[in-house]
Amino acid sequence: MILIDYIINLSMLSLMVSTPLVIRSYLNHKPIKQLWLWVGLYGGVVSTVLVMLSFQDQGYSYDIRYSIIILVFAYLGPGAGMITGSIALASRLMESENWFPAIIGWFVVMTILFVAHKFTMHWKPARRVMVLLCSYIVTYIITVPIILNVIRDNPVFHLQYLLFVSIGVLTGGVLIESYEKLYRIIKERKRMEQTLEESESKYRLIAENTSDLIMVMDKEHAITYFSPSHEMILGFRVAELEKTEICKLIHPEDVVNFRGTITQLMENKESMPLEFRFQDKDGKWMDFESRWMPVMSDEQVIEHIVIISRDISERKKAEEILLQSEKLSIVGELAAGVAHEIRNPLTTIKGFIQLYGKEDKLNEINNLLLSELERIETITSEMLSLGKPQAIQLNRANLCDLIDHTVEFLSPQANMKNIQFSRSYLGTDFFITCEKNQIKQVFLNIFKNAMEAMPKGGNIDIKLQKGINDDCIISIQDEGCGIPEELIPRLGEPFYTLKEKGTGLGLMICHKIIKQHSGSIFYHSKLNQGTLVEIELPLTN
Ligand code: ADP
Ligand code: MG
Repeated sequence: MILIDYIINLSMLSLMVSTPLVIRSYLNHKPIKQLWLWVGLYGGVVSTVLVMLSFQDQGYSYDIRYSIIILVFAYLGPGAGMITGSIALASRLMESENWFPAIIGWFVVMTILFVAHKFTMHWKPARRVMVLLCSYIVTYIITVPIILNVIRDNPVFHLQYLLFVSIGVLTGGVLIESYEKLYRIIKERKRMEQTLEESESKYRLIAENTSDLIMVMDKEHAITYFSPSHEMILGFRVAELEKTEICKLIHPEDVVNFRGTITQLMENKESMPLEFRFQDKDGKWMDFESRWMPVMSDEQVIEHIVIISRDISERKKAEEILLQSEKLSIVGELAAGVAHEIRNPLTTIKGFIQLYGKEDKLNEINNLLLSELERIETITSEMLSLGKPQAIQLNRANLCDLIDHTVEFLSPQANMKNIQFSRSYLGTDFFITCEKNQIKQVFLNIFKNAMEAMPKGGNIDIKLQKGINDDCIISIQDEGCGIPEELIPRLGEPFYTLKEKGTGLGLMICHKIIKQHSGSIFYHSKLNQGTLVEIELPLTN
């Protein structure tokens, strides 16, 4: 039965084509050197097996060795094809007689396959297989029955033969293509896994070796990642943090801001800064400066928030020291004036006490004594409150009171220098949320600068009014030496001073405090005419 012989041949061909392909997909080899040579030789082995499985019909020996030759030609080029072809011919000649048609046929077919390959060199192998197969069929029909006159009277025989060679080529081609595709997919997946692993390990390296705290928050506001640096800086193990509610570790005064930042970020979808205090394992508060970055999905929805925080406790401490030293230097400078001022009421008090026994106008004297004592009290307590380092405490305060206190405090010195303060408040309710002492320090510094700009005395005009939005403007106009226009941008730079004994820190501290209170500060000045300092601060309801 020819059919059974053909089926056996086809099965053997399929098995032998797929075996190396399956092996290759399991082994992750580097590309084989001189692959064409090896495949050519292996093709030769396959063709030998096929020749061995050949069968006799009408006096001729038949096999489908040309299927493997066509496949090798198409997939690995003429070099490999020639090797397979030569081995196939040798096996055929050893296997049976009728050498003449076999040799002639071989020469013609090899030449045609060679030429057809040349023309389809840049095509995809699958298409090339089809072209080579068609060329083979045409060549066979022309040479075998027509020129060589072999079994011309039985076309069914040739049809059968060509059909099975074609099925052999197609089965082999389909096997190769599908394994190739599978192999490409596996390789691509491996490559992707490797890239992913590489990039992941790179990010892990950064996250695990940074001294910044990295947190990732999901859209439900739960923290899904804490970098290992948390353990180093705060002392908490990551597993501990994962079980704790984050707000419990944030300073109660900062929790509102912390939550507010989440809401604002969800609305604006823009990165935001935030300063907050975090408690470490020993219960100590640490200052952190953080940046919040939204991570968007393709649909522009926030998927995650990355929060990177840096410990700024040291910087805060240094700033505090600077603030304190500048404060002390001003207070120290003023001490002489204050002492002088305290001496005056004390003299009065002493005089009246001496009069006590002699005079009878006790009531009037008492009132005077009390008012003088009150004055001493305000001056000394103001001096103390300014000089003493204090914990920052945000409170509601009326700007009118803060300005009044500062003016009161400076008036002894102003009197000595023949300087008058005039105040005009356009309204009474100028409430702001602030650290009182800091705002007083701003006024103190600006008033002092104004006084220092007027060595011959003059007037300092302080105006307080509401602004356009929910803010207020405090204007301080002096009649002093003024500031050259080109130097105005330098105001607020640390150590920028034109004074012999100046520190150049006063305005820098003022800028910092005003910025912390979400306000701004502006200067307008005319040389030898005076300077106008304008401070804008947001009002509280
Ligand atoms: P300092 O008072 O120690 O010099 P400041 O930071 O307070 O430091 O001020 C910086 C400089 O700005 C001063 O040296 C002065 O030249 C200038 N300046 C500030 N305010 C005035 C003002 N009202 N009139 C003229 N110059 C001023
Ligand atoms: Mg100053």
